[in-house]
Amino acid sequence: MLPLKEEILHIIYESFAKWSAGFSFACTKNCAACCTQNVTMTAIEGEVIHRLLREDGREAWLAQGLREKGATFRPRMTTNDFAGACLQGEDIQPEQVGNMSPCPFLEEGCCRIYEARPFACRCFASEQRCFSGTSALLPEYYLSASTAVMQIIEHLGQGEYWGNMLDVLAALCDLPENKSYAALLPPSFTNQARMQIIKAKPLPGFLLLDGKMEKISPLLDAIFTSKVGEKTVESILNGR
Ligand code: SF4
Ligand code: SF4
Repeated sequence: MLPLKEEILHIIYESFAKWSAGFSFACTKNCAACCTQNVTMTAIEGEVIHRLLREDGREAWLAQGLREKGATFRPRMTTNDFAGACLQGEDIQPEQVGNMSPCPFLEEGCCRIYEARPFACRCFASEQRCFSGTSALLPEYYLSASTAVMQIIEHLGQGEYWGNMLDVLAALCDLPENKSYAALLPPSFTNQARMQIIKAKPLPGFLLLDGKMEKISPLLDAIFTSKVGEKTVESILNGR
């Protein structure tokens, strides 16, 4: 049986997959210019990846990917930090992502952790084929809905690690269940990763696009009204 937070995470992933199924994207297998080392995620999403790799016996493969990572993008604000500042009227500019090196989980154009990939990878798409150096093209309400879902996932993992995917995976390596990784990484590797990441924050409110709520609400309703046992996801997220 999955831990409660992972169960909710899978409900969120499925709700988003159903909601976004109606979009027509240019994304295809082997198109992977977007698969860089700039992905951010929560610890819950990291635990999903670790579980997959432990079950597959791919600990050495992950340790090698982590050792070889480049100058990873390390944001100073989480999505909820950014939303909170915007809702307070602060003039905050989004941080510049800087490391376009390929994600270490990309091999021969395919994601090798596809079923466990974090939400940032699940929502990244484009209506027109993008190439290195060009931006993805997406409707504003899709971006607004994706940001809202990222905020919910961060809220779910509040107080836990939040940061670059590779740093979060490295930081989680010395949990008891991930001990098999420790011997494969240089001493103090996980401690260094911990120093690079920040903590997930509670939801300060959504940054939703006015005038498009009729398109976004079905997604949020599907997430909040889903049930785990007797409780709705909304009541669990509210701590009830
Ligand atoms: S977002 Fe762009 S680079 Fe990524 S799969 Fe879609 S079209 Fe390809
Ligand atoms: S985890 Fe997979 S989908 Fe995400 S950036 Fe890496 S290769 Fe791409």
